[in-house]
Amino acid sequence: MIVDQLTNTICLTNELQTKFNYLWQLVGNTPMLEIQCIYKDKPRRVFVKCEQYNLTGSIKDRMALYTLHQSYNNCLIKPKDIIIEATSGNTGIAFSAIGRILGHEVEIIMPNWLSKERKDIIKSLGANIRLVSKEEGGFLGSIAMAESAYNSRENVFLPRQFENEFNIEAHEVTTGAEILQQLENHGLVPDAFVAGVGTGGTVMGIGKKLKSLNPSIKVHPLEPYESPTLSTGFKVGSHRIQGISDEFIPSIVKLSALDPVLKAKDGDAIIVAQQIASSLGLGVGISSGANFIGALQLLEDLGNDAIVVTIFPDCNKKYLSTDLMKAEPKEMDYFSNHLKFTGFKSMG
Ligand code: PMP
Repeated sequence: MIVDQLTNTICLTNELQTKFNYLWQLVGNTPMLEIQCIYKDKPRRVFVKCEQYNLTGSIKDRMALYTLHQSYNNCLIKPKDIIIEATSGNTGIAFSAIGRILGHEVEIIMPNWLSKERKDIIKSLGANIRLVSKEEGGFLGSIAMAESAYNSRENVFLPRQFENEFNIEAHEVTTGAEILQQLENHGLVPDAFVAGVGTGGTVMGIGKKLKSLNPSIKVHPLEPYESPTLSTGFKVGSHRIQGISDEFIPSIVKLSALDPVLKAKDGDAIIVAQQIASSLGLGVGISSGANFIGALQLLEDLGNDAIVVTIFPDCNKKYLSTDLMKAEPKEMDYFSNHLKFTGFKSMG
């Protein structure tokens, strides 16, 4: 469907269109699972879109591919342009792989504290990587460096994921549409959706699609309890949920279009992601654990029969060197102490 919508223009050569057709076979149309667990002594179910099954293993493939396809379609990028992007990791991996397949050089600018696996994967995909320390400005510094590269060099394409409407559209026309279809195939409609916010493309795009079906469907952004950004307007403290709550509220995030912000502790997100792996055999990243916690909070609020949907944005392989592979201190009163996973079934 996507491929049909994005038809040839003068900038999209037949050769490129063929590559986009093949790339869309490898991105999107991910499985949805109904995950079953006991939380606070009651059986619960949460519907989860499993984004680790995209080409490079994360939800960001959708944004990168859609942005490049639409940018070619609108002649905003040309063959051989260098793609430069500031990213907390998964976006860098997505642009590195997809950019390479399309014949572009790629430069990724990212904070130096992100996981070693992300940096190594980006390098392995042939991209140049520029690491930015806290002293050089961290995440905001990375964005400023990308802008200055764009202003000072020729033939640069800057996707600007934090402000690009294609980021929202990617999730409106792919992820959001798929969620509605997968539920509809089982006679279900969603009551609520929750997703952690990095650029906000996921929550804004899926939110737009769900609320266009019915404005009363709840769509909640989520952020780390220890290090809020959305509820403060600026980043406070630090947290371990890589991929969400960067250092500012992205301009594509319109909190007024969303329901209240939910929060998850990073220790809980780690333990829940560990439990999902060890109990269900699904190796997921830390933000997947956080999203699942948000979904359980919604079931508590809306009642156990509610159809609550969330996302597993990536898999655990990018976190082998992080706390996701270590035991959390036992003495804490974790949300996850009241949680036991029992199984899952495929929704198609
Ligand atoms: N989780 C992970 C692991 C991510 O890499 C990202 C993207 N930064 C997100 C969640 C949030 O996605 P979005 O940028 O669409 O808000």
